[in-house]
Parts: sequence; C-alpha cells; structure tokens
Amino acid sequence: MKKRVVILGSTGSIGTSALTVAQQIPDRMEIVGLAAGSRVEDIDRQAREFGVSHLCLADEKRVGELKGGDRQLFAGAEGLVELVEAVKPDLVLVAIVGVEGLRPTLKAIELGCDIAVASKEILVMAGEVVMNAARQRGVNILPVDSEHNAIFQCLEGHQGGADEVSRLIITASGGPFRTWSSDRLGGVQLEDALKHPTWEMGRKITIDSATLFNKGLEMIEARWLFDIPMSKVDVVVHPQSIVHSMVEFVDGSILAQLSTTDMCFPIQYAVVWPERLKNELKPLDFPSLAKLEFEAPRLDDFPALNLAREAGERGGTLPAVLNAANEVANAAFQERRIGFTKIWGVVEETMRKVSHIDSQELEIVVAADREAREVAAGLL
Ligand code: NDP
Repeated sequence: MKKRVVILGSTGSIGTSALTVAQQIPDRMEIVGLAAGSRVEDIDRQAREFGVSHLCLADEKRVGELKGGDRQLFAGAEGLVELVEAVKPDLVLVAIVGVEGLRPTLKAIELGCDIAVASKEILVMAGEVVMNAARQRGVNILPVDSEHNAIFQCLEGHQGGADEVSRLIITASGGPFRTWSSDRLGGVQLEDALKHPTWEMGRKITIDSATLFNKGLEMIEARWLFDIPMSKVDVVVHPQSIVHSMVEFVDGSILAQLSTTDMCFPIQYAVVWPERLKNELKPLDFPSLAKLEFEAPRLDDFPALNLAREAGERGGTLPAVLNAANEVANAAFQERRIGFTKIWGVVEETMRKVSHIDSQELEIVVAADREAREVAAGLL
C-alpha cells in the first residue's frame, strides 16, 4: 500500500532523512504535505521536487514567498492543524523540534491518521493524552526515535505487558563528554557540545545528547509509548550506537535491534510497518566492528537521568515542567547566555519551583508548560 504522508518539520534533520526514504521507496510513500519553521527556500525546493501543493510555514510573514501554481498555503501554529485537516493523510510524521507538534498530532489522531513520532517532547509533555486519544480512535503511534523504534521492533509479536517484559533497556552513546572528568564540564563550549560522536542531528537534540537530557526525555517517552512503569525503564551507555535498544523479557532473554547509525532505518520501518522492505541503506558489517561496549551512565556527573526518572515516576505535570525548562535552558546555552552545567541547574530549580498537579489533562499540562517556561527564563 502506498501511504500518503505529511511531514511536519520537513527541512530539519529527520525531515530531510524522511524525504530520502520517500525517494527510495516511491511506490510506498507519497508526500502530500510539508511544514517547516522559516527555511522558505528549502521547503520551496522540497515542494517542487516531490510535487507537494499543501505547505505550511511557521513564519507568517514569509509564507507569501511560497505562492505559486495550485499551492495551498498555511501559516503559524494554527496552520499546522489546518494542513493536517486539509490533507487527511494516512500518516503524519511529527518531526518539529519542541512541543509545537502536539496540536496537529491530536488533530491527526482525531481524523484517524496514524502518527510516526520523532518529536519526543510531545510525548514527554502529554504522553498520556496522546496515547489515550490514539487508543480511543484506534490509530497507531509508530516511534521514529531510533531507541523506541528498536524497542517497538523487539516487542513485535508480544503483548509487551508486565507479565512478559521485565525491562526496557535504552542505549545511550554517552554524548561527547562521556569520558570528560566532572571538573572539565564547567568549561564546555557550544562547539564542543555540538560535536556528537555518532549521530548527525538538529542542534537542540545534539545539546540534549551532551547533557543526557535526550536520554532522560527518552525514558519518559518509552514509559508512555510502551505503557510501562518508569521503574522498568533502564539506560545503558553504548558508545558505538549500533545496538539501538533492547527488551529484557521475564524469562531472562534479551532481544536487541542493531543497524548502522542512519535515521532512514527507523523512518522507513515506521512508514512500511508492519512490513519490511529492501533498501539501499548501508548494512552492518560485523567483522569491521572492532567492539561493542556497554557501561553504566555517570548519574552523579550528568544529573539529567535522575531528574527525568523523578519526573517520570511522579508523573502529572512534572514531565511537562522538566521538558519546558530544558527547552529554555538548552536555547539559552545555544545563545551562549548560560554555561553548560547551568542547564541542569535551571531544570532542577524549575522542577522545584513550579507547583505540581497530579493530572495529565491537556489544559493542565499546557498551563504547566507555560509556567515552567516563565520560571526557567527567570532563572537564567
Ligand atoms: P531540526 O532542528 O533539524 O529540525 C526541526 C524542524 O522543525 C525543521 O524543519 C524546522 O523548520 C521545523 N520547525 C521548527 N519550528 C517549527 C514550527 N513552529 N512549525 C513548523 N515547523 C517547525 O530537528 P531534528 O530533525 O533533529 O529533530 C526533530 C525532532 O525529532 C526533535 O523532537 C528531536 O528530538 C527528534 N529526533 C531527532 C533525531 C535526529 O536524528 N535528528 C533522532 C530522534 C528524534 P526550519 O528548518 O524552517 O527551522
């Protein structure tokens, strides 16, 4: 079956990989809508290349630059929702950095479209809302994040509940500072943090990988995607990023998913699921892999994992608060307004300051997100 796909965040790292996949499997994937932030030239080129007429740009002032032919243009946050409504695709790939993809995701679910989710932030902020809506409407939430896609693959054919699964083991590269002493972390520069050892990704997630907040967000993402308590979500550092994650079953067997580090693998799987399709991606060559290493994360030196575990265990609005504070601190570090280690401090202090509500209702988490952004901004 050929799927009609909308890509939200088409000009970013995941979005461009998704278009590469679309080029490789044209009989299975038709791009019917694209959305980007402000890179007008890029989305314009993509629209011409893939013959897409429904386009959305967050930057309302520049959207007019996309006019032409039979194009239908949408703009701003509301435009994302309108785009999904106008196209009603089979699948929406949500690859916008941050939480802007939440509302179009909920609209897509309401319309019965499947969701391929890369934007982990929306599941951290409102995982219960998204997963409940998907269950009620009977739509599939297909993880694109390589770790969650790996777990999803390992769980194929299993119920995945507590009777069967004893642990989800999320692998982490450890980021560029895995071997740095804690004294050196205070002097980390933006350029150091942007050098990821194994993956090429957008700037926000690359910084998140350096602080380990990316892994923290992924723990909470896994909790919702696979409906599993936080206590059963573990992280192990695996510097080669070849084993993308694992599932330990109650009988002690562990299943893992392995591939070269290319996001086209999980994207293709999410698009053609539940089938498998041959492709031109580089296969793994075992003899050339010198070794696969595993080690424990340095929880004391990189507090992001403990903060995320606390947020995931407590639930309610705390994950939304952690996520929002991290977005603010991450952006401030990118603007060189705060030092690297301050990112953890801002998140922790925001978590302590914003009053906790034990609810995941949409309006409540949206309000918590807003409050956390204000509190975090005040702490910079
Ligand atoms: P990028 O920064 O590379 O791309 C972000 C995309 O979102 C761009 O297309 C950008 O447009 C668009 N965008 C930003 N704001 C808006 C908005 N308000 N409305 C519409 N589009 C917008 O990020 P990544 O591709 O790296 O990451 C995207 C998401 O996927 C993140 O949540 C990340 O955590 C997750 N992810 C990424 C992985 C990766 O390998 N990169 C791996 C796993 C998950 P413009 O270019 O015009 O600014």
